[in-house]
Amino acid sequence: SKTLRLILGDQLNTQHPWFADKQKDVTYVMMEIIPEQLYVKHHIQKIIGFFLNMRHFALSLKQQGHHVIYFYLDSAENQQDFKENLLWLKQKLSIKKFEYQLPDEVRLDEVLKEIQKEFKESKVYDTYHFLTSRNEVKDFFRGKKQYLMENFYRYMRKKHQILVDDKQNPIGGQWNFDAENRKKYDGKAPLKDALLFKRDVTELVALLDKLQIPYFGGINKKEYNYPVGRQEAFALLDYFCQELLPAFGTYEDAMLKEHVTLFHSRLSFILNLKVISPYEVVQQVVKYWELHQNSITIAQVEGFTRQVIGWREYMRGIYWAEMPDFKEKNFFNYSTSLPTWFWDGKVKMNCLKHCISNSLEHAYAHHIQRLMVIGNFTLLAGIHPSEVDNWFLGVYTDAVEWVQITNTRGMSQFADGGIVGSKPYVSSANYIDKMSNYCKGCFYDKAKRHGNKACPFNSLYWNFYIAHEDKLRSNQRVSMMYKLLEKIEPDEKEKITEQAKKYLENLNSL
Ligand code: FAD
Ligand code: SF4
Repeated sequence: SKTLRLILGDQLNTQHPWFADKQKDVTYVMMEIIPEQLYVKHHIQKIIGFFLNMRHFALSLKQQGHHVIYFYLDSAENQQDFKENLLWLKQKLSIKKFEYQLPDEVRLDEVLKEIQKEFKESKVYDTYHFLTSRNEVKDFFRGKKQYLMENFYRYMRKKHQILVDDKQNPIGGQWNFDAENRKKYDGKAPLKDALLFKRDVTELVALLDKLQIPYFGGINKKEYNYPVGRQEAFALLDYFCQELLPAFGTYEDAMLKEHVTLFHSRLSFILNLKVISPYEVVQQVVKYWELHQNSITIAQVEGFTRQVIGWREYMRGIYWAEMPDFKEKNFFNYSTSLPTWFWDGKVKMNCLKHCISNSLEHAYAHHIQRLMVIGNFTLLAGIHPSEVDNWFLGVYTDAVEWVQITNTRGMSQFADGGIVGSKPYVSSANYIDKMSNYCKGCFYDKAKRHGNKACPFNSLYWNFYIAHEDKLRSNQRVSMMYKLLEKIEPDEKEKITEQAKKYLENLNSL
C-alpha cells in the first residue's frame, strides 16, 4: 500500500531509521507554509535558515533515491495548510497510510493527531534526535516537589556514559565545575572570529518580499552565514572543538562589547533543526577533549556537556510536562508592553543597546546576554510574559517553542513561579559590570541607585524585591535579599522606589 511520510521543518534528521532503505511505495512530503511564518514576526535570518535547510534536506533525500514532494512557498498547488496539502496528496497518489514523526510543538501535535484521522492507517515515529523521550523528565521527577536540573543531569551522564568512569563516578572527581568557570573576559585566551558560511540568498529574500511575508532584522543577502546541511554543521562543530572549547567554560558567562559570540558554539540553530544530534555533538566534543587533555581542562568540556545533555533535554522535558498551561503563566501579573527600542536597539542603556542590536543584526545572543541583560530587564520592568515570549520566539534563529518558552517564561521571567528555576534571575548593574565591559562609557552611572543618570538596573532591582515581597519573601533562595533590604534606610528606600517609578513610566525613553 502507498504511504505518505510528512517531514516538518525542524525534523531534518538524515540519520532517522526512515531513510535507511528506499521503499518504492513511500513518498516523503515537505512544505513551506505561509501561516507558519506569521504566528509571530520572525527575524529574516531565521526564516531563511529554515527554508535553506529544508530545501537542502529534500534535495539530499532525492539524491539518495527517495521519492520526495516539496511544496515551495510559491508552488501553484500549495494550499498553505498542512491538512489541505496532505489531503490533496492523499487523493492524487491514492495514499492509504500516513506516517509522521512526533512534533516538538504542542500545537502541531494536535494538528497532526487530527490529520491522522483522515487516513485509513497511520503511524507515529520518534524523531530519534533527543537523548530522552518526551516524558522522561516528567517520569524522572514524579513524586518530587521540584524539578532540579542537577539531579537530572547526573542521571543523564550515567545513563549515557558521558564523562563517567567505570564505577559511574564523574571524570575529574566532581559533577560540576561551575566554580572554575564563569570568569569575566581577561584577555588570557585570544578571541576567535566565529566560523561564518557564505551563501547568496538574494533570491530567497526576494521571494519573501514578493509574497509580502513580514519579517524584521538585518541580513547580508550576499553572505548568509548560518550552516546549511550536515557537512556545515560538522564544520561548525569541528571549529568549536579546535578553536573555542579550550576557553568555553572559563568565559561562558562573559560579555564583551566588541565580540558577540566569544567562545560559544552557535550550534543551537542547526541542533534545533535536528540536522545534527546532541549525542553526536557531545560525543565529538568529549572525544576531542580526550585527545587534548593536556591543553583543555575538564571544566571546559563539562560546562559544555551540561548545556547539551543537561539543560537542553531538561527544558524539552519540562515543555512536555507543563504545556499547554505553561503558556498562560504570569506569576507577577505583569501587563506592560515591550519598549519600542526592542525593535531598533535605540536605547541609552549600553548593555541593552549592545545585546539587542546584536540580536537584531545577527539573530543571535548568547545565554547570559539573553538571561542577565535582556530577560533581566524585562522581568524588572514588569513586561507581560507573552510579549517577552513573542520577541524571543521571533528574534533568534534557534527559537523553537519547546526551548524558547521554557527558557523565557520559565527560567528568565519566573512567570511559572518557580517550575524551571528556584529563584528569579535578576541583578543590578553590579553583576553586569562584573561580567562585561558594557558599563564603561555608558550614559548611565553604574554606581548610582537614584538621581541624575542613575543606572536603571539598580533602582528597578530593589524595587522588584520591594514590589513582590508578598510573593518572594518566603522563598529561601532570596531571603538574603530581604535581609539586605531591611538594612537600607527608609529614606533611601523611598528614593529608590521613586526613581524606579520614574523609569517605569518612561520605559520607551531609557
Ligand atoms: P553554547 O553556549 O555554545 O551552548 C551549547 C548548546 O547548549 C547550545 O547550542 C544549546 O543547544 C544548549 N543550551 C545551552 N543553554 C541552554 C538552555 N538554557 N536551554 C537549552 N539548551 C541550552 N536556546 C535555544 O536553542 N532556542 C531558544 O529559543 C532559546 N531561547 C532562550 C531564551 C532565553 C530568555 C534564555 C535565557 C535562553 C534561551 N536559550 C534558547 C538557551 C541558550 O541561550 C541558547 O541555546 C544559546 O545561547 C545558543 O547559543 P550557542 O549555540 O552558541 O550556545
Ligand atoms: Fe547597563 Fe547600567 Fe552598566 Fe549602563 S551602567 S551598561 S545600563 S548596567
